[in-house]
Amino acid sequence: MKILVTGGCGYIGSVTARFLRNNGHEVTVVDNLSEGHRGAWDGEFHELELLDREAVHHFLDGHQFEGVIHFAARAYVGESVEQPLRYWRANVVPVIFLCEQLEGVPFVFSSTCATYGVPMTETLSEDHPKNPVNPYGNTKLAVERLLRDRDLAGHGSYAALRYFNASGAEPDASHGEAHHPETHLIPLAVQAALGQHGPLTVFGTDWDTPDGTCIRDYVHVLDLASAHLAALKRLVGGGASGAWNIGTGVGVSVREILDSVGRTTGSDVPFIEGERRDGDPSMLVANPALAKAELSWEAEWTQLDTLIETAVQWHRAHPQGYSE
Ligand code: UDP
Repeated sequence: MKILVTGGCGYIGSVTARFLRNNGHEVTVVDNLSEGHRGAWDGEFHELELLDREAVHHFLDGHQFEGVIHFAARAYVGESVEQPLRYWRANVVPVIFLCEQLEGVPFVFSSTCATYGVPMTETLSEDHPKNPVNPYGNTKLAVERLLRDRDLAGHGSYAALRYFNASGAEPDASHGEAHHPETHLIPLAVQAALGQHGPLTVFGTDWDTPDGTCIRDYVHVLDLASAHLAALKRLVGGGASGAWNIGTGVGVSVREILDSVGRTTGSDVPFIEGERRDGDPSMLVANPALAKAELSWEAEWTQLDTLIETAVQWHRAHPQGYSE
């Protein structure tokens, strides 16, 4: 397939672009490089600002794609609370500009478990109520609805993949997580253990969980990559649109992450116990049954230490992240 990947210089986008190429697909990446790294993708690339309608239309006029996988977005929850308009513009407007020109083209969208809001059940199924608690989640849910309306009007199918916590790196340590500033637990814990960063602050130790720290569902970035291909194949094959959780179904606490990083690096993670972070639910765990049933997808990276080991190797090999 000839596939357009937006945001293909970012963490999940670049790993997915390579995964698609390794599976024989022709991949074109566009990215405005505001967060992405030019060094993260070595295939066909166009620097493109997706908020520039004329530029987007001009670019798409010159290409024929069988599918689009749209990663480009802003994804910091805290920033979205402070700058909601920036999030609504960056996360919603480009989808309109792309869809205007991608008549009938299947659209795979990076959605998030943040579309659910505060969980009312131990694991989250796709039909759980959607009440996002921050602008980031609101913008992602808005795009899901936009895509559903487009689909209902007969202008193209879509798959919304509701990621849980993307984690890990390519096992050859060539691609991994490099955010500036880094806010995510696993990179910060690994960097702290390797002496590349100061002590980690654990956000709350008094949660209503077995060890008092928050529980998340950490899904390896290569598993996320394979979910995108499975979703696109479904759509291209004429399968119905929908939204799917992409997670392991297993909850892991912050303390369990720190223990695993300690085992895999051979050094304890230096940490301090801090306050709860605003907007953090105590527990976010997927029920991934629908993706298994309808996309024939399930997480393969289910051993925590093996997953963490890939992140450790990435940070050891690239203490400063990407060089460009
Ligand atoms: N976390 C933490 N200290 C940090 C960063 C994160 O204790 O410096 C916790 C956070 O409260 C959450 C979990 O680690 O429970 C995962 O957070 P992350 O930011 O990696 O992903 P999120 O779940 O917010 O998407």
